[in-house]
Amino acid sequence: MGIPLRGRTARWPPAHCSPFIAIARAAARQLRHQTSAALNHPHISLCCRNEAWQQRPCFLQRDSFRSTILSCQTARTSRRFEESGPVRHALRLKFFQTFFWEKVMVEWKGIVGTAYTADEFDSYAHALRWSGWRPAFIVVHNTAVPTLAQRPNGFTKQHILNLEGFYRDQQHWKAGPHLFIDDRQIWVFTPLTMSGVHSPSYNKTALGFEMLGDYDRDEFNSGRGLRVQRNAVAAVATMSAVLGLDPDTMKVHKEDPLTTHACPGRTVVKNKFIEKVKELLAERHGGEHLDPVSS
Ligand SMILES: [Zn+2]
Repeated sequence: MGIPLRGRTARWPPAHCSPFIAIARAAARQLRHQTSAALNHPHISLCCRNEAWQQRPCFLQRDSFRSTILSCQTARTSRRFEESGPVRHALRLKFFQTFFWEKVMVEWKGIVGTAYTADEFDSYAHALRWSGWRPAFIVVHNTAVPTLAQRPNGFTKQHILNLEGFYRDQQHWKAGPHLFIDDRQIWVFTPLTMSGVHSPSYNKTALGFEMLGDYDRDEFNSGRGLRVQRNAVAAVATMSAVLGLDPDTMKVHKEDPLTTHACPGRTVVKNKFIEKVKELLAERHGGEHLDPVSS
């Protein structure tokens, strides 16, 4: 098909940019455009024709593209798409670069998607091999939304798959938190042996565990909240033992200076939580030696 470009007809797609067609289609879907309209849009063609695309795209600056694409999505883009002038060109270029980055340069790390009881999780985690990334501490969160009431039976496999779609396709993150913990089970989400995305300052150095509930409102020390707490304490104890982490190094999300989330809710008291982790570790691994002289 042909489209008008600078007063002449350019071939679409340009011969060198076939790898980008799938990306353009995804972009079009994402932006709720008519696929054909977006594919035919002169600026997408222009971006493809830009010789920079034939080189390594070292000029990609991921964060600025992300903010651009988020603003695009917020504005539903169609109006901005029709703005004219250099702003439009810059926006379009960034828009296309964003999708190049997200779909080609950035790989979603995948999820494990398996649920374990606390004891099963302990066996699972002890069998993991830590050859690359190794976390230095654990960050505890609560989901806030959903609340306990919104998940009366905890997370189902479908809930976990929906969360994967949310982080991968809406947030455009490479990964999510490592665990989703409810009152029945511990769901492994992002593999524990890879860095996740959950807390801006701590992603590179910490595991992130999400507890089901909004502990500004849900009760953390009784009922279902207490069962969530027990599973979370067990998960932190397990990973502390597996990785040789001092439980005192554990953090809560709201300690991250770069976050605005009051997470987890105020009924989660960090020091009390850590005490319970230590108690469980002592219970599991304690065993005092017998004094050979007096015994
Ligand atoms: Zn959080």
